[in-house]
Amino acid sequence: MLKILHSIVQEVSSAPNLDSAMRIIVERVRSSMAADLCSIYLFNPIDGSYLLTASTGLKPEAIGHISLKPDEGLIGYVAEEKRPINITNAQQHQRFRFFPQSGEESFHGFLGIPIIQHGQVLGVIVAQQKAKREFSEDEVAFLVTVSAQLAGVIAHAKSTQFSHQLKSRKSNTSLNQLHGLSGAPGIAIGKAVVVYPSLGLDTIPDRRTANPAIDLQLLEMAIQNTRRDIEAKLHQLEPLLRKETQALFEAYLAMLESDTLIGATRQEIESGLWVATALRVSFSKQANILAGMDDLYLRQRGSDILDLGRQILNHLEPGARKPLHYPSQTILIGEEITPSLLVEVPPNKLAAIVQCRGAVASHSAILAQTLGIPAVMGISNLPLRYLDGLEVIVDGYRGQVQLKPDRLTKQNYQQLIRTEESLQNLLNSARQKPCRTLDGATVQLQVNLGLAGQMAPAETSFTDGVGLFRTETLFQQMERFPSEQEQYQSYRDILQVFHPKPVCIRTLDIGGDKPLSYFPIAEENPFLGWRGIRISLDHPEVFHVQLHALMRANLGLDNLHISIPMISQLAEINQALCIADQVRDELISRYGEFPAPQIGIMAEVPAAIFQCRQYAKRADFVSIGTNDLTQYLLAVDRNNSRVAKLYDHLHPAVLTAIANMVADCQLENTPVSVCGEMAGDPLAAVLLVGLGVHSLSMPIMRIPRIKWILNHLDSRAMVEHSQLCLELDTTSAIREQTKAFLIANDLRPMIESSLLETHAAQG
Ligand code: PEP
Ligand code: MG
Repeated sequence: MLKILHSIVQEVSSAPNLDSAMRIIVERVRSSMAADLCSIYLFNPIDGSYLLTASTGLKPEAIGHISLKPDEGLIGYVAEEKRPINITNAQQHQRFRFFPQSGEESFHGFLGIPIIQHGQVLGVIVAQQKAKREFSEDEVAFLVTVSAQLAGVIAHAKSTQFSHQLKSRKSNTSLNQLHGLSGAPGIAIGKAVVVYPSLGLDTIPDRRTANPAIDLQLLEMAIQNTRRDIEAKLHQLEPLLRKETQALFEAYLAMLESDTLIGATRQEIESGLWVATALRVSFSKQANILAGMDDLYLRQRGSDILDLGRQILNHLEPGARKPLHYPSQTILIGEEITPSLLVEVPPNKLAAIVQCRGAVASHSAILAQTLGIPAVMGISNLPLRYLDGLEVIVDGYRGQVQLKPDRLTKQNYQQLIRTEESLQNLLNSARQKPCRTLDGATVQLQVNLGLAGQMAPAETSFTDGVGLFRTETLFQQMERFPSEQEQYQSYRDILQVFHPKPVCIRTLDIGGDKPLSYFPIAEENPFLGWRGIRISLDHPEVFHVQLHALMRANLGLDNLHISIPMISQLAEINQALCIADQVRDELISRYGEFPAPQIGIMAEVPAAIFQCRQYAKRADFVSIGTNDLTQYLLAVDRNNSRVAKLYDHLHPAVLTAIANMVADCQLENTPVSVCGEMAGDPLAAVLLVGLGVHSLSMPIMRIPRIKWILNHLDSRAMVEHSQLCLELDTTSAIREQTKAFLIANDLRPMIESSLLETHAAQG
């Protein structure tokens, strides 16, 4: 069965369009199951019906004409029930609906399986037979498996089909709307610029070249470099390589001479395609031909071709991979927007980011919040290659993207942008005030820095220092570990800019989703693997240099706090402190008296909740990292859009965990703060202050809003409200109660989603 399934998936993947993909599926399923009929009905979001899209067995004229509402017929029944429906005689079922044009009258046995992706019913696949009998258990299991496998393929084919339509369609609001997750709030209207990291061939956009001669040269250079690389690998590893691996490298070298691949790429360039697009077109074409073959060996050669294509792509001059031009309102779109892609865009031109991967606490979402631009994440079927240059609206509040908006939609959004701007002006006008609640309690509002190479903001006077400086970016920007002097200079700069306000610099937190190109870590489960302090303790030579640079930078300033990430054992704190003592002793012996920085820990894994008191005894401060804490407490990968709706820092377990940690820190008189994205969320900030956290660190753009909110509330009321929330059972109850609390205190406009609600009510 696996073989049949595999070959169906392969055939469908290489189908030129959705219609032929559907045709292949019904033909192959009917013959594999020996059924008399197989049909697919796909959900049409425009009118909410299920349309007969393909069939072998029904009359051809019915295809594209029969459509059923969700409450109509057996198809609607299958979609509604979201389970297999296996019926001996369909015509006697109360939900059966007869269409004279279908020719369905001679079929009795009916098996309908919903096609579901991420909980959404994309359509229904049906097998029917003339005999009055149920399908066997094996047959049901087979069709369920086919359906589950095909859901992704259908979704992909649909998005490709839809992208073709995009090219011609003027605008169609409901069809051109893509739904993802909100990564950062805000609205932007601009032009799509598709970017891609050095990986995937399939995400390269359709672009033409202005100068084929230059592109041909770029291709030749990339091929030469790829050849050099492969030869070097072969030479270096030859004694260690197994015969098959050696043969693969040799096959790659042969392919680099191939006319079908390289010759075809040259021809595509000569016909006017941009070098990377030409590479994609010719390599994918050959790979698809092989992928459709029955023979396993040949199929595997298909993936080798794609692999070689990727290698050449990585060697194309960086200039060839970069978009040629960034328009004034650039909407950066890609599989994943990495910091290095982001820094290519002149800051005054970047309006928003949209990406296929990731979720709300991914680092690219945090990055967007830092820059104060909207972000939409996790649109898995984004038709990347067709989007370049399109007009796009990014709605970071709802996590939606509108392609080629119509005039009315655009006007509505322009109005929203104006409302947003006047609110921001109001918030900025009060940002210099200290953060003090109505009853006089002070809250420190600090800034998170470090992402996207952002070292120091131009304006710092309205902040209370730095609550989190992520040092990873400094390391990620280099091609080797930064030297002690390079690190010293960065840390010194930041300490000086904020002096005398405190600056909390976190030691290296690589691993998880933060890789270093020169220190690759390949792990099955990176978030549960070698991360943060675990790496630093295993590599004291790196840790030592970082602590040395940090402490040296603090000389004469004395505003340094050091935080240690991913602490899950008391021993890690002890060892880190011990190394820090050694470093300081060394500095003292060399330079004389030296200030001792405050050294604290990040509380971000569940162990820290239960051992917080012990940790707080040893550390000078505790900084709660709610991004990871939420991820580990709820067992939800913060980057995985599939489970993103489960990721929520207002979850009762997260609130209770924070309440307990704060209480433990208070018992030990150890200062406690929060530096995850939760601190910059208006609803969460109120709860945190109510739970006793008087120091919040967040992306700089979030500070004015949070300051405004806290300055208009009474701290005792926040405490009372938080205690009430600790009694609630669900995330949604906590969210609704906290919204109601803000509204009751005349703060409705400060709730992020209220902008849209007010607008909808007026419109
Ligand atoms: C956190 O986990 O909350 C945090 C601030 O660290 P990072 O997002 O860098 O993992
Ligand atoms: Mg963290």
